Amino acid sequence: MFRLLRYFSIASLVSIAIASVLLGMVYREIAMRELFVMGEKHNVDITRAFANSLWPEFAEFVKSSGSLNPEQLRNHPRIKKLNAAVYAQANGLSALKIKIYDTQGHTVYSSDARQIGEDASGNQGVRAALSGEIVSSLVHRNQFNAFDGVVENANVLQSYIPIRSPDSGKIEAVFELYDNVTPFLRRITRTQSLVMLAMVLVFMALYGALFLIVRRADAIIKTQILETKQQRETLLESQALLARTQYAVDHAGDMVFWTDKSGHFIYVNETSCRRLGYPCGELLALNVWDIDPDYPKEAWPQIWERLKREKQFTLDSRHRTKSGEVYPAEVMVNYVTFEGKEFGCAFARDVTERKRNEAELIRARDAAEAASRVKTLFLANMSHELRTPMNGILGMVDLALTDSNLSNESREYLMEARNSAQDLMEMLKKVLTFAEIETGRAGLIAKPFLLATLTADALAACRPRAKAKSLGIASRILPGTSEVVVGDAECLRQILDNLLDNAVKFTEKGEIQLTVAPLETTPDSVMLKFSVQDSGVGIAADKLHLIFEAFTQADQSSTRKYGGTGLGLAICTHLVALMGGRIWSDSQVGKGSTFHFTARFGLPG
Ligand code: ADP
Repeated sequence: MFRLLRYFSIASLVSIAIASVLLGMVYREIAMRELFVMGEKHNVDITRAFANSLWPEFAEFVKSSGSLNPEQLRNHPRIKKLNAAVYAQANGLSALKIKIYDTQGHTVYSSDARQIGEDASGNQGVRAALSGEIVSSLVHRNQFNAFDGVVENANVLQSYIPIRSPDSGKIEAVFELYDNVTPFLRRITRTQSLVMLAMVLVFMALYGALFLIVRRADAIIKTQILETKQQRETLLESQALLARTQYAVDHAGDMVFWTDKSGHFIYVNETSCRRLGYPCGELLALNVWDIDPDYPKEAWPQIWERLKREKQFTLDSRHRTKSGEVYPAEVMVNYVTFEGKEFGCAFARDVTERKRNEAELIRARDAAEAASRVKTLFLANMSHELRTPMNGILGMVDLALTDSNLSNESREYLMEARNSAQDLMEMLKKVLTFAEIETGRAGLIAKPFLLATLTADALAACRPRAKAKSLGIASRILPGTSEVVVGDAECLRQILDNLLDNAVKFTEKGEIQLTVAPLETTPDSVMLKFSVQDSGVGIAADKLHLIFEAFTQADQSSTRKYGGTGLGLAICTHLVALMGGRIWSDSQVGKGSTFHFTARFGLPG
């Protein structure tokens, strides 16, 4: 477009130049012609005036002057008189020179005396005038001998005019008149320049206007081209997108159906045709109920109403193929409106495989649950059954220890046996509790009890072990804590025993502190917070959340060093939850741990 503008500018400028020059030339041509006609008429008029005033007097002399030589003519009194008359008459006129020829073409008179007597019989103008024509021509002279002297650069209109006898009408002489048209020509040239300048200005204005229009048009066209290009690109993009979408829909794993509101298929993808065994054209001639035995034609109005209401729902249905095979299908139906029209868009998939897997999974889960139940039951029974012989062993060992005749060595062995039997008993208790929890048999029995007594008993139970490791052990019940609370004391004791046991187990020096604080109190219940703080090995931050899971220990080496089942905290977590609270721990490796738990208790009425 830029090139077009350049061409347009160059072409316009050249055209303006040519048109201006041409118009100037046309103007000059017309003006010159006018000047010529007017000048010739002017010359004829002057000649007639001269002829009328001078000719009657000098006609006879002119006719008879043929025998005189130039010198005689120049000095002839008649010529001098004629000359004086001509000068007198020419005074004030634009005529520059007058010549008179006789019928033989001799120059009888000229206002430029040097030409008198010249033979002009060969002069075309003279000859044409002698044959009756008026002949004029416009000539330029660098120097011209005029009446009033030499004129420089003169443009003169030269006319040969025949003079006829007023009586016979015969040509008696030829007048040659030079009229000065220089001022006219100058005016014409000036006017021509003005015309050309005006033309240039007009054309330039036109060109300017056109240029602006073309530039505006250029901008509009450019914008349109850009818009068209963008539209084309957008169109191509959307076509490509459409093609991709179409491909994806046609080859999707799911079947895709579009229906109108009467349940008639208006689009089906290739997957649908393949799975249902119909050529697509044939499937498109069917309705939803032709392939779905669960939703017959009569049911369609209700389905459509539901779809309109819910906009989208998923249903389990069945599809029937062309060959009559019926398979389970999961169908997600959508209600879609498009330009005021209603449609149903459904995505369906054959769920035969999934249903089969689900059934197998349910079977496997049931079997696993049954096996687990049997195992847990076995565990519960075993640990329960094992407690009886263990109690027997402990009883016997205790009895044997009462024997005062025992040697020190035997007493030590028996003490060792009793400690191990007690550990085993503790372990069995944990396994039993865990099994009871697993089988859902653990429950709470709420009774009022003295909080201070329970905490003192718990501390007393583990004091010997603490003492054996030279650890301090203390408890603190913060003011505001109800003395008597209603709850499962055995359960609370089990939790405290576990936490205190762990605290003693994982601490080598320092002390263990149990704190009880009230958190929130309602008229009939109180939420208490228990904290067991130790100065032991601590637990790494990334293990803190794991230790509350069953059979998990923070550090595998601790099993070797401290023993344990990894069940204690899992049991605590469950029991705390039963008491409406939660359990957590703060710990720093090497500095110690604090285990907190909350539990809700009733208040005695
Ligand atoms: P275990 O019978 O092994 O003690 P628990 O469930 O009571 O089982 O504890 C799980 C693990 O949590 C322990 O093996 C130990 O690694 C960590 N743990 C529990 N209490 C403490 C504690 N006071 N200090 C350090 N580690 C502890």
